[in-house]
Parts: sequence; C-alpha cells; structure tokens
Amino acid sequence: MGEVTFTFVGTGDPLGSGGRLHTCFHVAAPSGRFLVDCGATTMTGLKREGIDRNAIEAILVTHLHGDHIGGIPYFVLDAQLVAKRTAPLVIAGPPGLADRLRRAMDVMFPGLSDVEQRFEIRIVELEAGRRTAVGPVDVTPFEVVHACGDPPYALRLEVDGRTLAYSGDTEWTDALIDVARDANLFVCESYFYEKEIPNHLDYRTLWAHRDELECDRLVITHMSEDMLSRLSEVELEPAADGKRIVV
Ligand SMILES: [Zn+2]
Ligand SMILES: [Zn+2]
Repeated sequence: MGEVTFTFVGTGDPLGSGGRLHTCFHVAAPSGRFLVDCGATTMTGLKREGIDRNAIEAILVTHLHGDHIGGIPYFVLDAQLVAKRTAPLVIAGPPGLADRLRRAMDVMFPGLSDVEQRFEIRIVELEAGRRTAVGPVDVTPFEVVHACGDPPYALRLEVDGRTLAYSGDTEWTDALIDVARDANLFVCESYFYEKEIPNHLDYRTLWAHRDELECDRLVITHMSEDMLSRLSEVELEPAADGKRIVV
C-alpha cells in the first residue's frame, strides 16, 4: 500500500492567531497528491514546506470561507504564470463552489476567471453522503453546521487503504461521529477552549464526545488565541504548521 504522509501546511484560524497560516493540508499518497482546504496563505505554506505544487492533482475544500478557499486564486495564478502547469487540476467542494470561485477570482484579479489556462481546471460540486472519486482519492462529504452561504462539509477521504477524516468549521453535530468512524486520522477544529458559540467547536465539547469518535488518532486544529493559550491543559494532540504524520 505504501506510506501516506499528511502535512499540516496551515493550522490557524482566519485571523492569524498564533502567527499560524490559514487552513491547508497536503496529502502525499502512492496514488497521488492533493490538498485539503486552501486558505489565503496556502502559497506561503507550500513554499515553506518545499511542496511541489505542480504535483498536486486535486484541491478538496470543506466550505466556502476565505480561510479555506482564499488561496485558490493565487494557486491558479501561480500555476499559469510561474509554475507553468500543464497537468489538469480538479477542485472539489460543496455546491456553490464554481460560482464562488469565479467571483473570488474576479474580485482579486479581474479577468483571471476568463483567462484560458494552459491546464484544464475541472470543478466538482460534491453531494453530501455520496462517495465520489476526485483525482487519487475517494471523498465522502458529511454536512455539518456552519453558516457560510452554501452547505458546509466535513470530509472523509480514502486513499491507498487509509482513511483520513477532517472537519473544518462546525458546531458539534453527530455527523462528526460518522465522518470519524474507523478513520486512521481525524483532524478537527477546536476553536475555543470552553466558550460555546454557534458555528464553531470548543475543546470541552469535543473532549466530552471523545469516546464516540472511533478514530485511531485525533488532532485538533483551527485554534484561536484563547485555545492556543490553553494548550498546556489539553489531552488531545494539537496540530502545528509544518507537522507531518505518516498514516
Ligand atoms: Zn468557516
Ligand atoms: Zn475557518
């Protein structure tokens, strides 16, 4: 089966807490390489980690907030002008992805969405509950609870016999039990330590549900300054920019 390497390229919240980059993970598997979420600082993170961006076959996104998709216009711009990409790129995420990306590109770089790229960009809008092949990985989205204008997902990713699960932003929902079931690795938001707010998950709530999450390894991410200041008190494993896990 070969090794699957999961790199935490960016593990921050949208506001740069702790000096961390926006959310982005890179998965290198024998079958291929892909990104999971692509926040606005993704290009900085890829260069910091020495990751070959032309080898990335797909970008999968959980939901359509800037700290999860804001790096895509830069990725496309770089691929066209600097990296001279020729391989096709698949971008997959919730319904509304194609329209939101077109508008994001037009705001950030007027005309970019109309430029004929040297490489094919294929946009796939994933249906909740339906397992779909995206480049090298099989993706099953689970709808979660996070107001962002379009349906937000947690993603279950199956590649080369490994199962990776990831929840971006959501308040607690039993969908997290389903997405994490039998996963080798589950990466989950822990925004505040104990403050409960709509749309986001706090550490205390996640910890209270730990026994229901039947995953081999659980790593917390997307942490605010409040959460980062309490890391010495937590029992769950925290993510950090540049951390690598061989699954
Ligand atoms: Zn969000
Ligand atoms: Zn976020």
